[in-house]
Amino acid sequence: MSHLLPLSPYAVAAFLIIFWGYLTLNAALYIVFYQCRCSETESWKIQTHNTRHINKRETGTIYGASSEGRKRQVTSISKLTSTVNNNTLISYALANLADVPWPWRRGVKGRAPQHALFATCNLMIASLFALLTAEGTVRGIGSQLKTGHPHVLGTREVIWWLLGESWLVVASLGWQSAWEYYWHRLMHYGPVYRRFHKHHHFYKAPAPFDDMYIAPLEALGYYFILYSPALVLPMHVLSFAVYLTLLGLCGILDHSGIDVRLPRVYDTRFHDIHHSYTNANFGFPFPFLDVLHGTYRKES
Ligand SMILES: [Zn+2]
Ligand SMILES: [Zn+2]
Repeated sequence: MSHLLPLSPYAVAAFLIIFWGYLTLNAALYIVFYQCRCSETESWKIQTHNTRHINKRETGTIYGASSEGRKRQVTSISKLTSTVNNNTLISYALANLADVPWPWRRGVKGRAPQHALFATCNLMIASLFALLTAEGTVRGIGSQLKTGHPHVLGTREVIWWLLGESWLVVASLGWQSAWEYYWHRLMHYGPVYRRFHKHHHFYKAPAPFDDMYIAPLEALGYYFILYSPALVLPMHVLSFAVYLTLLGLCGILDHSGIDVRLPRVYDTRFHDIHHSYTNANFGFPFPFLDVLHGTYRKES
């Protein structure tokens, strides 16, 4: 198999995990909150006045689809899921997959005209970075990541190993946060903003799948920063996966429009405010450098 496929299976797996992981999590948030809990936005929605993406079932105007068309979609999918209990969230989700505003969908109400092109392209770029990092690690090219089992003997060594890896995860988060902050501020420099970053600010109240609406050249720079700890920090590949999962979750939640808070550490309102006020909250995902540079804004 290896001589047929020039890539290692780990690289292919990394590509698929990022690609499908991104789609699955965004679709799940969309279905659970924007479809199932669309009548109780006060309990979870940031910027409750902004109801773009909220499923308007009562009027039948879901992304411009007619209520008849939607009924046909749901009926045909329901046939496929007839073996599943119709009251479960899974069957509900399956029946409503056609309504999910997938990144490549065109003509979604309220979306930027180039969204389908940019978001599809950027999802591929993000997945390709995962593939290249995994392949580089397997071949020992560029990547500093370690593979295999840690050479530990007893409980004490395991604890020291875990402490060391935890420190490397924290270091990689700090490394990414610092580079991202100054990169983001550069993106807000007049000519650069107008040429590139303005696209990302099309959405004043982001919702699932909006995070990928970035000019692809800008996205290349950002994904390089995101994956760069693999080039400089000698951490285990599993620790790097933890780091990537944390930032992936934050990136998706930051643009979900859903109120998620971890006191003093993380708050989805922080980046949401940046989409409304472009001169504040440049950090991702933490506000520490904004506090340091006086660009922190708490209230919208
Ligand atoms: Zn954003
Ligand atoms: Zn910005």
